[in-house]
Amino acid sequence: MHCSICHHSCMDGIMLLEKQICPSCEQKLVCIKAEDQSYFYYVWRIKQLWLN
Ligand SMILES: [Zn+2]
Repeated sequence: MHCSICHHSCMDGIMLLEKQICPSCEQKLVCIKAEDQSYFYYVWRIKQLWLN
């Protein structure tokens, strides 16, 4: 399986609304702060996932 966000292969990712998310991306999503530089990237990536 491949992570829907970072595209790395992962064995033990979680399924989030039918998308595979690796543990490190899941952690990022849980912990990320709005002032984090990658915050908007993640928000944007997730929007893309469910729009496509
Ligand atoms: Zn990932």
